[in-house]
Amino acid sequence: MKSVKFSKEDQAAIMKSLDEQDFETFISYFRNTDLIVECEYMLTRQKQKLAPTENAQFTIGRVSYYVQITEMIKIKIQNEWAGFIKGRIYFKPEDIDNRDDEFQKLQECTSKDLFLTDITQWFLSTTFVQKIKVDPIDMFVEGTIVLDDDHFYTRAEYNTKLQEFNPPINEWLIYCNCKRLYDPKEDYILCEFCNNWIHYTCSGKSDKELKNISKIKFICLACVDQNQNKKKKLSNVQEYSTQDGDSTKIRSFNTTHGKKKK
Ligand SMILES: [Zn+2]
Ligand SMILES: [Zn+2]
Repeated sequence: MKSVKFSKEDQAAIMKSLDEQDFETFISYFRNTDLIVECEYMLTRQKQKLAPTENAQFTIGRVSYYVQITEMIKIKIQNEWAGFIKGRIYFKPEDIDNRDDEFQKLQECTSKDLFLTDITQWFLSTTFVQKIKVDPIDMFVEGTIVLDDDHFYTRAEYNTKLQEFNPPINEWLIYCNCKRLYDPKEDYILCEFCNNWIHYTCSGKSDKELKNISKIKFICLACVDQNQNKKKKLSNVQEYSTQDGDSTKIRSFNTTHGKKKK
């Protein structure tokens, strides 16, 4: 540990970085001094224990930040300890500005979608708002988890340098014949024919019919269509063979017979 005596220039620079909320620079002046302490956890104002790998919401001004915590430190400033929390930033769908075709699918995301990025940022512990939960979206498929205000889901991580999702958008969970991204807040009904989950809104059933859902043997519109087409084809063949079938067979038999004869 080096004894801490900041030069006048350093002091000015430290104050400037604090004013500009450039905590990365600010903290760098205290590294390897006895004025900085790494923390395994911090107690929040609500007396909750906050630790690395947990997810949290911070608010600066009117802007909310959602982060996965990676590091926590305390710095002694004028005899008082100030807490700083570093985390990887989660992007919301609207934070991703890419006009490529495959990114159009992002418009089907909801306000509950978060994507962990490679961007990190320091926050003053006083701007901490609440702990949040971020779970993989497939955890909600069973329909047993109720989405509270502090609960979010994620479909992928986002690399801001490569502008790439992992897994890629075309592998994200999709149900129903409309091929929209899965949304845990929407109601789905299982088609007994194709085993696909169909949106209530795409089911072609009235609200009244859907209310008695347990009594419905549900077949989706696509399967109904397919069935009708099959029936049509089948009835076409039948019509053909009863009206004209036998004579055609005979006629063609005669011709081939005749050809062979020559
Ligand atoms: Zn649908
Ligand atoms: Zn179906």
